[in-house]
Amino acid sequence: MQQHIDTYDFKGKKAIVRVDFNVPLNENFEITDDTRIRAAIPTLKKVLEGGGSLIIMSHLGRPKGVDAKFSLKHIVAHVSEKLGVPVQFADDCQAADAQAAALKPGEVLMLENLRFYAEEEGKPRGLAEDASDEVKKEAKAAVKASQKEFVKKLASYADCYINDAFGTAHRAHASTALIADYFPQDKMFGYLMEGEIKAIDNVLQNAQHPFTAIIGGSKVSSKLAVLQNMLEKVDNLIIGGGMGYTFIKAQGGRIGNSLHEDELIPEALSILENAKQKGVNIYLSVETLVANEFSNESATQIVPSHEIPDGWEGMDAGPKSLKIWKDVIASSKTVLWNGPVGVFEMSSFAKGTLQIAEDLAEATANGAYTLVGGGDSVAAVTRMGYADKVSYVSTGGGAMLEALEGKELPGIAAVRK
Ligand code: AMP
Repeated sequence: MQQHIDTYDFKGKKAIVRVDFNVPLNENFEITDDTRIRAAIPTLKKVLEGGGSLIIMSHLGRPKGVDAKFSLKHIVAHVSEKLGVPVQFADDCQAADAQAAALKPGEVLMLENLRFYAEEEGKPRGLAEDASDEVKKEAKAAVKASQKEFVKKLASYADCYINDAFGTAHRAHASTALIADYFPQDKMFGYLMEGEIKAIDNVLQNAQHPFTAIIGGSKVSSKLAVLQNMLEKVDNLIIGGGMGYTFIKAQGGRIGNSLHEDELIPEALSILENAKQKGVNIYLSVETLVANEFSNESATQIVPSHEIPDGWEGMDAGPKSLKIWKDVIASSKTVLWNGPVGVFEMSSFAKGTLQIAEDLAEATANGAYTLVGGGDSVAAVTRMGYADKVSYVSTGGGAMLEALEGKELPGIAAVRK
């Protein structure tokens, strides 16, 4: 049975907590953005304040085996500072028995990077590229078999399990999903996870209407499932960024050198047709800031999005598009934003994306519920200083995307089931 962190009695208990401490480090192994660490602190403090002890586990990067570059020891001091208590370190997540057993209430142990073991992800490593299907199958079966022991060991350290790693909730890994089975009566979400789940529910289950989704980014192919799921939920769908040009081309527009996927034109047309049938208003960009090359210093001009001259490519939404979108956003009670509406990494083409961030902040001030999910849109609101001016900023790019596709995330399902 799923427990709740607010009501669970942590007194004298050891809690093993899966967090997402996959933070960016510079070449001196200093943390360049500690958002993910700060996001997990309320959960960790709750356990300690409730009289429990903590075993913290996470992955960092994509190591292929034990690799000092990806050691979590680099972040121990920072976690300790944020928690306000000393943090011990177990330099092998599979050999922490004694340290875990010795933990007293109020004490904290952090395990070394779980992904030093292939069993965490349950995927074989080091296979030759040309390995036969038979060999691949055997290797997979071998990792799956040893994964059971791996999970059992982690579970043996603790009395209860908390999943607070939304960033990896879309993965059915040992520490994010499988381990929950060892705590049938003592498993729960942490506060970060609770917040993310509530935010998702606020838009997917309980949205106030009118509901507008703004979906941007580079490719239709990577957001096709999100677009399809959104059609079932929203009143207005704004499609911006590089992916918009596939739709404009599908409608017979001239898009010059703009990014597009010809093979997705049938899907784009079916989304447009579906929207019509469902009464969903689609807002493509009507005006585009185009450049004569993919560079911040290129020559630019503003043209209708359906008439982009040869040799030019769409880089950002033009003022007319932004005005239309602004009005749609302002008249909405729920707004979801995923993906930039231009090549916002280049300052010359960031205006549209930053404008959307501002529109969301304004809508929030006027009482709308606004959710920003996905790495780039999150970066845009943060850059504008608006992270506190929208209702919720998601910490998980891939996980949020899968949730928006309507999938049940394994990390969530494992605790709920
Ligand atoms: P995604 O990962 O699919 O959310 O896409 C994010 C990327 O889309 C960012 O790196 C943007 O630079 C890129 N992007 C947005 N608009 C355009 C555009 N008009 N042309 C090319 N890339 C774009």
